[in-house]
Amino acid sequence: MASRESGSKSGDTDLTTLQLRLPFKDQDGFVEGFSRSVKGNLVTIKTRKEKEAGARFLLDLRLADGQSMLRAKARVTRAVKAKTQGFLVELQLDDLDENSAEMLRRLNRTEPKQALAPKPEPAKPKGTPPPPPSEAFDDARKASQEENDRAPCGDEKQTQTPRSENESDAVEEDDDLDLELDVAPPGPELVFLEPPSSVPDEGPIIGIDLGTTNSCVAMVQGNKPVIIRSREGYNTIPSVISVSSKNKLMVGHPARSQMLTNPEQTVYGAKRLVGRMFESDTVQLVSNRFHYPICSDSKGNAAVQLGEKVVSLEEVQALVLAECKEVAQNVLGQRVHRAVVTVPAYYSDSQRQAVRESARLAGLKLERILNEPTAAALAYGLDRNLEKRVLVYDLGGGTFDATAMSIEGNVFEVLATGGDTFLGGVDFDNQVVDWLLERFAETNGRQFEGDHVALSRVSAAAEAAKVALSEAQTHEVFVPFLSMDETGRPMDLKCTISRDDLIELTQELVDRSIDVVRDVILDADLKPSDVDDVILVGGQSRMPLVRQKITEMFGRDPHPGVHPDEAVALGAAMLAGSLGDIGSIVLIDVLPMTIGVGLPGGRFKRVIERNTPLPASKAYAISTPYRKGRKVEVAVFQGEDTNVSANEYLGTLRLPVPRRHRKSSINLEVSFDLGPECVLEVSARDMDTGKMVRSSFATSDTPDALRKRLDMEAPSVSKDGSERAEELSKRGGGFWSRLKRAVGG
Ligand code: AMP
Repeated sequence: MASRESGSKSGDTDLTTLQLRLPFKDQDGFVEGFSRSVKGNLVTIKTRKEKEAGARFLLDLRLADGQSMLRAKARVTRAVKAKTQGFLVELQLDDLDENSAEMLRRLNRTEPKQALAPKPEPAKPKGTPPPPPSEAFDDARKASQEENDRAPCGDEKQTQTPRSENESDAVEEDDDLDLELDVAPPGPELVFLEPPSSVPDEGPIIGIDLGTTNSCVAMVQGNKPVIIRSREGYNTIPSVISVSSKNKLMVGHPARSQMLTNPEQTVYGAKRLVGRMFESDTVQLVSNRFHYPICSDSKGNAAVQLGEKVVSLEEVQALVLAECKEVAQNVLGQRVHRAVVTVPAYYSDSQRQAVRESARLAGLKLERILNEPTAAALAYGLDRNLEKRVLVYDLGGGTFDATAMSIEGNVFEVLATGGDTFLGGVDFDNQVVDWLLERFAETNGRQFEGDHVALSRVSAAAEAAKVALSEAQTHEVFVPFLSMDETGRPMDLKCTISRDDLIELTQELVDRSIDVVRDVILDADLKPSDVDDVILVGGQSRMPLVRQKITEMFGRDPHPGVHPDEAVALGAAMLAGSLGDIGSIVLIDVLPMTIGVGLPGGRFKRVIERNTPLPASKAYAISTPYRKGRKVEVAVFQGEDTNVSANEYLGTLRLPVPRRHRKSSINLEVSFDLGPECVLEVSARDMDTGKMVRSSFATSDTPDALRKRLDMEAPSVSKDGSERAEELSKRGGGFWSRLKRAVGG
């Protein structure tokens, strides 16, 4: 950035310019030194005089020699008294020119190097309105406080900066222009969320599409659903968290930028693993596909190891939800406590429960869990007085759903749904990675033997190539210095990939999704010609091959009017906007996967069949063996296999038996109640005593413990189950075996 405008932009003239000369000699020094004061589009500076929340400025950050580094409109979101002198002021930046936006991205990507700032203390808010909340700033204060206790006194002096100067006639002078840079770090220490003891049931309700790759926030404003942009101005927020080597926690765009340099401490794709037991076949088969370590938490659920800490995937998702909430708060200038959150239609009960837990941890009252295809259908058809049958094809970063729906006015009814929580864009990327590594081996005469970081660079190049080939026919891939030979000669990855190559590599994946669509259409008792519109959602549905296959199957092009990234969040916002208005929207969902119980021998008894309309209830009587002194247990599963070990374990209902019970068996009536949001309650009644137990699946046993209880001789897998296991491992493909070889995993 050689030069920068110093004059006011049109429309800025009514704003006072805050011009800060910082003690940095050049751009690199500025980026390194100032990055700790930046989080997303929030910048923390130190001023002599207090600034009122809501006050607006034109912020102009300059080097010591006067060269402008960043210029943006800024609003004070919060100010607190600093411990030593002056005030810590948090500014939210918007309306950045292109250079400034690029600089902000760079600041967010950069790891801060210097010592930290003096300890600030909270100040009483002055005047009205009260400062809008910013958890980032609270974290910054906390982190600043902690760092200060460790920081040597000398560092404190070094961080002091000269007074800013009024330089140009174009800059309006303010007698308050007595500013100093402070290096207060906006990034928090590794402190995870502490859920509030109570969440007020008031205020606006936002819609959140909690995606595998990206999340999106929307809300109804002036009767229209609108997307709330991320701090950086994008329409989505990456569903990624990262912990830097200095224990700085990042969420969203700054976290995603760590994926290449710090892959082992950067968590993405939590949506694929959340709500699953660590020892489940699925987690065991796929855990080595992730660049970060997956472990078991104290309850046996899949979790991640970040530094010293085991972090549950509910916590990871909660951090993403909290970021969505904070972004909305910053835009609205008021607290947000309530949300509608979307999930794949094909999510099991335990995955839905996990999302509830994440919302609780993020301090959000979950007003409703909404299925993603239903949300997309709302965005397509709400208040349009339609009478149509539609097919929603949702191929995102990690999951795939196909859902047939009927829309009559504002009654949205799911006719049938099906999907795969392990089919998404990342599987397409993996195919391309394998292909690229073969090209690497061909051109360099040796197999790729890089580490996680090198592999992340190949994954990023593969994804970029895949996305580019949705527009272009060919794409040049170049990843320099991917590894070195024994003489120290750097080896690059350099090749050309064509759209035909991509089709050959991924055709099977697209065909798999089309097979699901065919089943769903059949389950819904429809023919392709009965479907009026096909709605494509999810980033991967942009692939031309997907559109082509849909057109071939339905004999018409997909509906063009729905935005694949935004539709789900917009639909969630529409539902959120109508929640007070009883009956204005009627949603009828179905159970995505059969629910049943485990029987001795490991057989699965189906109780409520998939695609049963919700709400649904079913009760049945069983006679179960009983040994004195033991509780009677009913293990509940979800899935389509005849054998429980291939289905998802939901939990166990335990029924205490009275001491006087003398028989060797006990007669139970087991009832399953599914609410409209597909949340399951199971109860059992002892038919002799009338004693009743309502489920809360408090203990999640490991599959091994469960097998023992079900008296299974060995963990056998049925034909269906083993086929699926094989399929999952096949999907790992050569890439994952190479990964293992490469990183010794
Ligand atoms: P989502 O979870 O809906 O945000 O989808 C993210 C997935 O969509 C990622 O795997 C992206 O690589 C993929 N994606 C985004 N844009 C495109 C595109 N233009 N062509 C193909 N795939 C895309």
